[in-house]
Amino acid sequence: MTTIANHLPTSELQAIDAAHHMHPFTMGEELAQKGARVITGANGVWLKDSEGTDILDGMAGLWCVNIGYGRDELAEVAARQMRQLPYYNSFFQTTNVPALMLAKKLAELAPGDLNHVFFANGGSDANDTNIRMVRTYWAEKGEPDRQVIISRWNAYHGSTIGGTSLGGMKGMHSQGGLPIPGIEFIDQPHWYAEGGGMSPEEFGLERARQLEAKIEEIGPDKVAAFIGEPIQGAGGVIVPPSTYWPEIQRICKKYGILLIADEVICGFGRTGNWFGSETLGIQPDIMTVAKGLSSGYAPIGASIVSDEVANVLEKTEFNHGYTYSGHPVACAIALENLRIIEEEGIIDHVRNVAAPYLKQKWEALTDHPLVGEARIVGMMASIALTPDKASRAPFAADAGTVGYICRERCFANNVIMRHVGDRMIIAPPLTITCEEIDTLIERARKSLDECLEQIRSDGIYEAA
Ligand SMILES: *Cc1c(COP(=O)(O)O)cnc(C)c1O
Repeated sequence: MTTIANHLPTSELQAIDAAHHMHPFTMGEELAQKGARVITGANGVWLKDSEGTDILDGMAGLWCVNIGYGRDELAEVAARQMRQLPYYNSFFQTTNVPALMLAKKLAELAPGDLNHVFFANGGSDANDTNIRMVRTYWAEKGEPDRQVIISRWNAYHGSTIGGTSLGGMKGMHSQGGLPIPGIEFIDQPHWYAEGGGMSPEEFGLERARQLEAKIEEIGPDKVAAFIGEPIQGAGGVIVPPSTYWPEIQRICKKYGILLIADEVICGFGRTGNWFGSETLGIQPDIMTVAKGLSSGYAPIGASIVSDEVANVLEKTEFNHGYTYSGHPVACAIALENLRIIEEEGIIDHVRNVAAPYLKQKWEALTDHPLVGEARIVGMMASIALTPDKASRAPFAADAGTVGYICRERCFANNVIMRHVGDRMIIAPPLTITCEEIDTLIERARKSLDECLEQIRSDGIYEAA
């Protein structure tokens, strides 16, 4: 059998990595100099690196390891399925048992009449599916001019051509000549940074009504769909004001356009319900899911689609699909993951134990001199770093300078928090205990203290 060389010294592993491995969203040269941290194992909420250090994973990998690391059941299900049927496709009028059972399970869990599942390999390509699906839907309905999909600036919908185009990250659009035609953007409901003197509720309505204005500008007969994350994740865990989603839903209904909820982060317990749509009161026509669907134990994503959309699409051949759509091993792993979430009451644990406890500790961070606001829904949370709490001012230094320093302090203190600009974010495994939450908060505080000390001595503790 192939030996995976965990036994090499860290410096050798890092040298091989630097020579041959291109990392996503990374400055390659800088990483090559520093050397990547080599993760060699994990259990529960704890990662282990090649030096034997235990690191508290406050991000559940990339928001995906909802049930925590090290669950043998998933390894066993995977091995069993590989022996039984490692692969077959679902093209050409064939199916496999894990895929059809997972589709049934997702139809049961998803709200309303979302009863049909198209499988992908992750969230990005599920969103590519959605672009083609909604445009094909309207063409089949006899409205081929309905092509435009409206999204939000600073949304994240993945990194494929389609996912990047739907996302509203300008730094991503600028590489590769994106977005593709037919994607339009409105502003995000980010009250803290953009709300000025408005109340959050007024601001939520104002931002939602940009959708109506945009539809009128494009022409209502040209708009196919609106897409949004119930709570923006990669954009900085931005919790919309309570007025926002009801107004978005009203506008989608009024113009008869499809509503796509990108649940890739919010799904599978993250917000304290099965889906963020339930927490935020959204009834979508299509949901994108991935990440927590398998808790990251295998790559898989899906579009979960309403009866109406599926019924229309059924009348044509949808010329679309992936070699690994409905991969039997990934589907078997996802089924076992959902069984564990359900039978172990993990969402109840979030709602009744972990999220209330984390909320109290997280919101208390606002007593720290650097923290301007703390936001949390379920097990996703953010804090804004600021030099001036009263005015919510940004730093004079380039956005992300201070956030990066803070993240480096977290890294040194063996807790994984991510920075988005000058917001620090967490999304730990849903199985985290109260004791582990205490450790996470202790390390976060220590990192904030060290960050403050450093920016003072660097002379960048200064408002713009
Ligand atoms: C991560 C993410 C995606 C992309 O999923 P991949 O599995 O990385 O392709 C899409 N949408 C949202 C909201 C995400 O957070």
